[in-house]
Amino acid sequence: MNEKKYVYLDYAATTPMDPRVVEEINKHFTNTYGNPSSLHYIGQKASKVLEDSRAMVASLINARPEEIIFTSSGTESDNLAIKGVAYKNKKKGNHIITSAIEHHAVLEPCKRLEKEGYEITYLPVDRTGLINLNELENAITDKTILISIMFANNEIGTIEPIKEIGEIAKSHDVFFHTDAVQAFAKIPLDVQEMNIDLLSASSHKIYGPKGVGMLYIRDGGKGKKGGKYIEPLMEGGGHENKMRPSTENVPGIAGFAKAVEIAKNELHIEAERLTKLRDKIINTITTNIEHCYLNGHRTKRLPNNVNLGFNFIEGESILLSLDAEYIGVSTGSACSSKSLEPSHVLLAIGLDPQEAHGSLRVTLGRFTTEEEVEYFLEKLPPIIERLREVSPLGVKKKLNARNQNETHLSKYG
Ligand SMILES: *Cc1c(COP(=O)(O)O)cnc(C)c1O
Repeated sequence: MNEKKYVYLDYAATTPMDPRVVEEINKHFTNTYGNPSSLHYIGQKASKVLEDSRAMVASLINARPEEIIFTSSGTESDNLAIKGVAYKNKKKGNHIITSAIEHHAVLEPCKRLEKEGYEITYLPVDRTGLINLNELENAITDKTILISIMFANNEIGTIEPIKEIGEIAKSHDVFFHTDAVQAFAKIPLDVQEMNIDLLSASSHKIYGPKGVGMLYIRDGGKGKKGGKYIEPLMEGGGHENKMRPSTENVPGIAGFAKAVEIAKNELHIEAERLTKLRDKIINTITTNIEHCYLNGHRTKRLPNNVNLGFNFIEGESILLSLDAEYIGVSTGSACSSKSLEPSHVLLAIGLDPQEAHGSLRVTLGRFTTEEEVEYFLEKLPPIIERLREVSPLGVKKKLNARNQNETHLSKYG
């Protein structure tokens, strides 16, 4: 298959690297080989690249450089934020509030903590994927130490009321972590204005290399009474403000910082362009295809996310048919796409398992063109029609309709 011709519409799963990032990384692979902890010239050169990268990443979210630590992924950042705060604050309390629609990188650490004696509240969401702020506030007890609510959902694109959550957390003196992997470098984000204490992001979702992530930690983890409010999950050297031992992946981090720099310059224009393409897909498909609906919020939504439900057919069949036309989409989160379990996010917004199986996620990005969107919009309707004709669910629907017309019962009725 000619990869150039392939229409990649799965940017929420991962992004191709921006060529400008590739160029930057290549430079550092050869020039910046030093260990940033070494005191000699070569080491200090690497240290300078590391610290410049930290400052760049911090500047995108209105943080200070010493509040950023680099990790290996969004998953690691989520684990460190949640377990690191939970373990350090065990004496203060054992209660954590999160939501039912979090990424597995948040839900699984929470489940682990439950086994270790912590209590976790999984807040429900409404039909559009939003948590309820009153429910959040009512869930807080004197044992609550942490609220972890994602900035924007990776499957349905819904953007949570982060600023309001930050205010609630602050007024109750509870730490607030947000998994911002999908929102970071895509929409404006300000840790001061939004009262965020901890924020996770990942390089490979923003046109940087895989295997690099970051965690913003307010005041570098220093608590109000001195001492730290978060502890590391690994033992080793004193890297990354003693929060994350391991010799830093300098070329990868420099690539991540380059990706941030590009996003800083292009974020607004890109968001506007993608929103137009997004709405074109949503409007065209929901008007032209019957028994089809949008999942997630219509406007409080990531600029690049479309999630559609199609009655009577399975998302997997649509995905495979589109793939045969050189179009790559997803049925839910990439991590669970190999399992037959319906998406926990779609169930949480109130779809039944059958409806959840009929969903398709289309996510756009920097290299998505108008022509590619046109191509997708041309290929999808006949696929849906053909699948509905051959699907047992579709057949049943037709028979039901005929039965109603002829007012007699068939053996399929
Ligand atoms: C991709 C993703 C993660 C995991 O990030 P990795 O860098 O792939 O480990 C976590 N949360 C959300 C919302 C994501 O989309």
